[in-house]
Amino acid sequence: MEKAVTISATIAMAILILLGCKQQVITINGLDYQQQDTILTQLTKTNKSFSLFGILSDIHGNINNTAYFVQYFVDKGVDGFLLSGDIVDHFRNDVPDEKELTDVLTVVSEPGLPVFIIPGNHETKDVYNNVLGKLKRKNIIDMTKIRRADLEQVVIISLPGYNVPGFVADGGFLFGDEEWQMLRNLADVRKKKILLSHQLPKSTRRNGIDIAFGGKHAGDGILKRIMEEEKIDIAVGSHIHESGGQAETRNDIFVPQNTYSETLYLNPGSVTSWRFINQTKYKGLAAVLSVNETHAAYKVVAIV
Ligand SMILES: [Zn+2]
Ligand SMILES: [Zn+2]
Repeated sequence: MEKAVTISATIAMAILILLGCKQQVITINGLDYQQQDTILTQLTKTNKSFSLFGILSDIHGNINNTAYFVQYFVDKGVDGFLLSGDIVDHFRNDVPDEKELTDVLTVVSEPGLPVFIIPGNHETKDVYNNVLGKLKRKNIIDMTKIRRADLEQVVIISLPGYNVPGFVADGGFLFGDEEWQMLRNLADVRKKKILLSHQLPKSTRRNGIDIAFGGKHAGDGILKRIMEEEKIDIAVGSHIHESGGQAETRNDIFVPQNTYSETLYLNPGSVTSWRFINQTKYKGLAAVLSVNETHAAYKVVAIV
């Protein structure tokens, strides 16, 4: 009987290889995950009722602020980190992108927790792929290749890069309309879904999460519609640093911190210093996201 089981397992593996399915089990922070093509599935159950994530968006190479927030998140007992793009600063400083990406990812991956990352409009494909290839940290989950992480309570779906051509670095991650269908396909799962994205869903709220300097809503209307139709209830992304540190519902109603909401579109703000829409300066922002199978809440963390 044992032999029969072994033989059928061998045959199953052979069929998977013939079908071209890449399947492997990786262990991160004591938990097993199975990777099959573009989907990562958590195998080990912890029976926790919620997950905590440290959100680091728009780091732009600011290593000191990153180190501060990483320590803060570890002290809070987060289950993992979400990095929603613009890890480097391609346009505004002379530091090589390769050094910025290496330094930041070294610090964020050091505690050994899962680090889910996507590029924004500042990353180039060459630098991003080179650095990830060299670092070889198994707890860094490249969400340009893994497009969906099916975790215990929630599913993380990625939308890497940015879709406004003039803002994307040459050789960067410019995505086109074909990504919308991909997003719909990835969302075909009945679980609470978090979108890890650099682009924001368009808001209609006066002080919305997507208001850029000048007063325009810079978020994407198609993304907003797909999130509603596919029941992607949580969005994490910044890009518009100046409207960060806040969240709203799918219907554009402001959600205060530490308040559980069924839908939560969060703009955590930038890890690096910036100005709010009213021109007051901030030194650096990040957020803690708490999610269970039905609701999510956030807390903004600021460097003072
Ligand atoms: Zn940015
Ligand atoms: Zn950006």
